[in-house]
Amino acid sequence: VRGYEGQNVAVLGLGRSGLATARALEAGGANALCWDDSPEARTRAEGEGLGLHDLSRRDAFDNLATLIASPGIPHLYPAPNRHIARAMAAGVPVDNDIGLFFRSFATPEWDNMETPPKVVAITGSNGKSTTSALIHHILTEAGRPAQLGGNIGRGVLDLDPGSDGGVVVLELSSYQTELARALTPDIAVFTNLSPDHLDRHGGVGGYFAAKRRLFAEGGPDRAIIGVDEPEGVFLAGQMAEGPGDDRVIRVSVDHKLTGPGWQVFARKGYLSEYRKGRQVASIDLRDMSGLPGSHNHQNACAAFAATRALGLGPRQIEAALASFKGLPHRSQLVGEANGVRFVNDSKATNTDSAAAALTAFARVRWIAGGLGKEGGIAALAPHLGHVAKAYLIGHSAREFALALGDTPHEICDTMAIAVARAADEAEPGDTVLLAPAAASFDQYPDFEARGEDFTALVKARLAD
Ligand code: ADP
Repeated sequence: VRGYEGQNVAVLGLGRSGLATARALEAGGANALCWDDSPEARTRAEGEGLGLHDLSRRDAFDNLATLIASPGIPHLYPAPNRHIARAMAAGVPVDNDIGLFFRSFATPEWDNMETPPKVVAITGSNGKSTTSALIHHILTEAGRPAQLGGNIGRGVLDLDPGSDGGVVVLELSSYQTELARALTPDIAVFTNLSPDHLDRHGGVGGYFAAKRRLFAEGGPDRAIIGVDEPEGVFLAGQMAEGPGDDRVIRVSVDHKLTGPGWQVFARKGYLSEYRKGRQVASIDLRDMSGLPGSHNHQNACAAFAATRALGLGPRQIEAALASFKGLPHRSQLVGEANGVRFVNDSKATNTDSAAAALTAFARVRWIAGGLGKEGGIAALAPHLGHVAKAYLIGHSAREFALALGDTPHEICDTMAIAVARAADEAEPGDTVLLAPAAASFDQYPDFEARGEDFTALVKARLAD
C-alpha cells in the first residue's frame, strides 16, 4: 500500500483482512497501529509482530492519518461503532482495505505495459460469488491472467499488483463498498437487489446507496446492470448519457430488452446480445451443467457482458460457460441415485435465493430452516408449487411449518433426520434440495459447515 509512508494508520478489527491490511501498510512504509476489542484478536496480532494502539484512550486519535476499518465491523447500524464515530468526530478519515487497494492499484510500472491491468468489481444482493467466479473462470480459460479476490478467495491486499493484460476480479459486499474512500473499477457489475442485509444499512435506501456508490459520477468505463428490478433500471438510467450509450450494458432474464443500447438477455435457454438494435451473438445456455436454474442465467449473462467488455469473443465465452463446475454450496449437485438428485444450496440464506433454487427444479423435497430472518418465508408462497414436501430443521422449524399451511411438511429438527426422511420418501425425478431460507448460526458455525454436513450425510447414504 502506497501513500502513507512514515504516517500513523490505525487498523481496527484484526481478523484475516485486518491483519493483511496491517502487513500491507507496514510493507509500504506506514506505521500500522492495530486494535480490536477482542483480547484474543490482539494477542494474535502481537504474535505476528504488529504493534497495538488502544483506540479507547483519550488521545488515541491524535496524529492519525486515517483509520482503516474491517468489513466485519458494523459501523453505523444497528448501532454506531464507537471507535469509528470517534475517528469521524476527530476528523480522521475512515477507509477500508478496498479503498486502500484502489488508491494504490495503478503503479509506475504500468507505463511500460501494453495493456495495464483492469479491475472488474461485482456487487448486488445475490449471485455475486457465482458471477465473480464465472468471470474469473472465463478469463482463465481464454488465457488472460486473472485473479479473484475481495469477498471471495483472497483479501484484496493479498492480491498481486497485476500484470500486463491482467484482470483483477473483485467481489464486493455492500459493507465493503460503503466505507471505501476510493472505488474506481474499470468495469462495475450490479447483479440484482433483494431486501436482505438491510438491518446494517438502515433500510433499503441506505443499502441501495451503498451499492450505488460504485456507479457514481466519474465512475467505471463500463457498467453492467441487472434491470429486472426498478433499482437496476434507475441505476442504468442514471449512468447512460443517451439511448445508444454503450457505457451501460443492460442485463435481463425477465424480458427481451429492446432499444438501441448494448444489452444481454436470456430467454428460453438462449442468451442474446444486442447492440444498436441488432443481434450480434446468441448462445445456448442449456449446456451449463454447473449452473442450473434461471437465476444462473442471470449470472451467466452478467459474466458474458463483463468478458465481452474485456474483448473476448462469444464462442470463447460459450465454451467456458459449459466447463464451469459451479461453486460449492450454490445449487451444487452432490449426488444422484435411482433418479433422485441431491443438491446443496446451503448459501440460500434468504428468500430470494431460496426461491431461485426452488424454481430451478421441478419436484423438490425441500430441506429448510435454521435461524429465520425477519418476514420468515411468506415471500416463498408463489414458489411452493415445486415442493412435494418440506423437511424442517433448526430454530425456525415451527415458524416455517405454520407458514407452509397446506404444503406437506414435517418437523425434523436436525439435518441427519431431514436427509434420511427426504431420501426415504423421494421418488424418481425428485430433487432433494437443501435451500434453508435462513441463516445457519443456530446449528452451525457458518453456511459452509451446514452444506458440508448435508453433503457428508448424502454421500454416506448413497454409499450404503
Ligand atoms: P452472493 O455472493 O451474492 O451471496 P452467491 O453466488 O454466493 O451470491 O449465491 C448466493 C445464493 O443465491 C445461492 O443460494 C445461489 O444459489 C443463489 N443465487 C445465485 N445467483 C443468484 C441470482 N442471480 N439471483 C438469485 N439468487 C441467486
